[in-house]
Amino acid sequence: MVLAEHYTLSNGVEIPKLGLGTWMIEDDKVAEAVRSAVAIGYRHIDTAAIYKNEAEVGAAIAKSGIPRDELYITTKLWNARQTDAHTAMRESLDKLQLDRVDLYLIHWPTPEKDTYVGAWLDLEEIQAQGLATSIGVSNFMPEHLDKLVAQSSVVPAINQIEIHPTLQQRDAVAANEKFGIVTESWSPLGRGKADDLTSPAVTEIAAAVGKTPAQVVLRWHVQKGYVVFPKSSRRERLEENMRIFDFSLTDDQLAAIDGLEAGTRVGPDPRTFN
Ligand code: NDP
Repeated sequence: MVLAEHYTLSNGVEIPKLGLGTWMIEDDKVAEAVRSAVAIGYRHIDTAAIYKNEAEVGAAIAKSGIPRDELYITTKLWNARQTDAHTAMRESLDKLQLDRVDLYLIHWPTPEKDTYVGAWLDLEEIQAQGLATSIGVSNFMPEHLDKLVAQSSVVPAINQIEIHPTLQQRDAVAANEKFGIVTESWSPLGRGKADDLTSPAVTEIAAAVGKTPAQVVLRWHVQKGYVVFPKSSRRERLEENMRIFDFSLTDDQLAAIDGLEAGTRVGPDPRTFN
C-alpha cells in the first residue's frame, strides 16, 4: 500500500498531499470509488455539499474500518448557504456520519452577494466548537483574501483554486503564500478538457522519467507545494495517481511545465461566479 506524504498547515495540522476528488463521480460509483481509494492507501477525501454525495462518502468511510484520526475529510459550504453556515455544517456532518470534518471551506466568494465575510465569522465559530479542525476558502482571489483577513481573526489554512499546467493562477498562489495559506489545486489534470496531459512538454518528460503524463502533472503540483485530489472512479487510475511519491522532477522539467500557462479555465471565473 502507498500512502501520501503530508504538508503542515499554519495551525500545525498535517494534510495528505494527495486525496480523492469526488465531484461528478456518478451516484452509483461514489461508494465503490471511496472503497477502492481507501484500500489503495488514500486517506484524504474531498467532497462538498453541492456534490450531493456526502451521504455516500460518509457511508463508505464508516464501512472502511480506517480509524477516524487517520482520515482527512474536507467538505464545503455552498453559495446559497453563506448566511446559514451553522445549519449547513450540521447537515453536512449528519450526511457524512461524522462529528467533525478535518477541513471546512467556503466554496466560492460570490463577490456580488458580498456575504463571505459573515460566512467566515460563522466558520470561525464552527472551528471553535470543534466541528471543523481547520477552516479555509475556495476560489478566493487576492482581493477576496485581503478583505477576509482584514475583517476577521483567523487566517484561512487553505485556499482551493483551479490550477493545472494551462491555468496556473500565479497571482492567487502568491497571495496565498503571503498569508501562509496552503494552496490546493482543483481540476489538477485539467479535467481532460485542456492540453494538460497531451502537450509535448508533459509527454516527453513522462517518457524520460518512465511515468504517465498524469503522474508527471500531479508530481509537478506537489513539487510546487500544492495539495491535489484528482478525480477518478477507475481503480487502475486511482492506483496510478497515488504513485507520485517515488520520483522527482528536475528544475528544468518543472520549468518546462511552468511554460504551459495559457490562461485556459475549465471552470467558472471566481470574480464573476455568483
Ligand atoms: P481532474 O483534473 O481531477 O480530472 C478528472 C478527469 O481526469 C476525469 O475525467 C478522469 O476520468 C480523468 N483522469 C483521472 N485520472 C486520470 C489519469 N491517471 N489519466 C488520465 N485521465 C485521468 O478534475 P476534477 O474537476 O474532477 O477535479 C478534481 C477534484 O477537485 C473534484 O473531484 C473536486 O473534488 C474538486 N473540485 C473543486 C472545485 C471547487 O470549486 N472547489 C471545482 C471543481 C473540482 P475517469 O474518472 O474516467 O478516470
